[in-house]
Amino acid sequence: MPQLTSPPAQVVADTIIRTVELGVRIVDAALAGETTVLWCDLITEGPGRCPNCNLTGAYRDSVERRVTDVPVVGHPLELRVRLPRYRCVHDGCDREVFAHDTSRLARPGWSTTRRCAGFVLRRLAVDKATVSAVARELGRSWDTVNGIAVAATRELLLNAGPARLEGVGVIGVDEHKWSHVLGRDADGFVTVITDLTAVVAGQGPARLLDMVPGRSAAAMAGWLAERSPEFRAAVEIVAMDGFGGYKNAATTALPDAVTVMDPFHVVALAGAKLDLCRQRVQQDTLGHRGRSGDPLYRVRRTLRTRTELLTSRQKNRLEVVFAAEEHVAVEVTWRIYQQIIAAYADDDRQRGKTLLTRVIDTLRAAVPAGLEELATLGRTLHRRRDDVLAYFTHRASNGPTEAINGRLEALRRNALGFRNLINYRIRSLLHCGSLAL
Ligand SMILES: [Zn+2]
Repeated sequence: MPQLTSPPAQVVADTIIRTVELGVRIVDAALAGETTVLWCDLITEGPGRCPNCNLTGAYRDSVERRVTDVPVVGHPLELRVRLPRYRCVHDGCDREVFAHDTSRLARPGWSTTRRCAGFVLRRLAVDKATVSAVARELGRSWDTVNGIAVAATRELLLNAGPARLEGVGVIGVDEHKWSHVLGRDADGFVTVITDLTAVVAGQGPARLLDMVPGRSAAAMAGWLAERSPEFRAAVEIVAMDGFGGYKNAATTALPDAVTVMDPFHVVALAGAKLDLCRQRVQQDTLGHRGRSGDPLYRVRRTLRTRTELLTSRQKNRLEVVFAAEEHVAVEVTWRIYQQIIAAYADDDRQRGKTLLTRVIDTLRAAVPAGLEELATLGRTLHRRRDDVLAYFTHRASNGPTEAINGRLEALRRNALGFRNLINYRIRSLLHCGSLAL
C-alpha cells in the first residue's frame, strides 16, 4: 500500500485520467449532459519553438484545442486544452504565428487523442464492436469514428510496411461482393487476396492480404505487378475458384507457382450441375417447375447431401425416385457428384486423387446423350485438370478465404453499406489482416 497523503485534487485527477500520457494537466472539470469535459493546460518547458526556424517565440495568446479522449466510467470524455500561441520574432523567418507543439496529445489535425485512436481500433478489431457502438461511447458521429479507424489502420499498414507480406508462400484468390449498389465500381465485386501459408502448414488462420476493385484477370494481375519481385518469387501455390481470369493472371505473373482449384468450388460446380439436371428432368417429365409433392422436388436437398450422412428414410426416398426410368439422368449425375465428394473426403490422398482422376477421365471419354450437365462439367474439369488434381498434393484450399469473405460480409452489413471502397478495404484489413495493434 502506498503511504496515505492528502495530495492536491489536481494530482488525483491527473492520476486517474493518466494525463501524463497526453502531456497535459487538468485544471477544471464539468458535466455537459452525457459528456464529461476536462479543461487542461499543456505541460510546457518554456515557450515553443518556431517550426520554421526553430527559434523560441514570444507569447502572443492562447486558443482552445478540443479533442475526444477514451471514455471514462462509461461516458464520453472531451478535453479542452489551452494552447499557447507565439509570434516568431526572428527577422529572417516568414512565419508570423505558431501554436505550441501538441503532438503528444493528438496527431496534427486529428480531433481525438492518440490513445483514443488506439481505443477505436481495439474496440473494432478485437471486441468486434460496431462503429455505431463506438461512436456512442465517444459521443462522436459514425463518420468521425469510421474516419479515425481508416486513418489509424492506414498508419498501421504503413508502419507494418513490406514486412507484412514477407514469408507468404500460399495465397488464395476469390471474389467478394462488397457493394449491392450498382454504379461506379463496376459490378460491386472485389478480388480478395488472402495469405493461406499458415493454414496449409497447419499453424494458424488465414489472413487478409488485400482487396482490389473488380473480379477480373486485370485486377489480380495488377495487384501482383505492384508487389516486389521477392514476394512474387516466394509464392509457391495459388488457390482459386474456377474463374479462368485468375488462372491466367497467376500463370502469367507467377510462372513457377502451382495453381490449385479448390475443392469447395469443384463440389459447388458439380452440385450446381446436379441441380440443373434435376430441374431439366422435372420440366421434361411433368412439364412444370418443381412444386411440393413432385418426386424430384421433394428430394432436392437429399440429392445434395453426402451419402454417408443420409438417414435410411432419405435413402429409401432416393431409391424410389431413381427406380423411375425417366429419372436416370438425375441418378447418373448424382453418382458423379457423390464420387467427387468421396474423392475429396478420402483420408488417403493418393487414393482420393486416383478416384477424382477416374471421374475426370470418365466424363472426358464419353458422356451419353441426355447428360448435358455432366458433359459441361467434364469439359471444365478436364480443362482445369492439373489445378483440380494439384489439391491432393498441396492441400491448399480457399475454404479459409470463404470464411474471411463471411466476416467481410458481416462487416459490410454492420456498416450499412460502405459508400467508399477505399474505406472498406482499409476497414477490412483492420478486421481480417492480423495487424499488430
Ligand atoms: Zn521562425
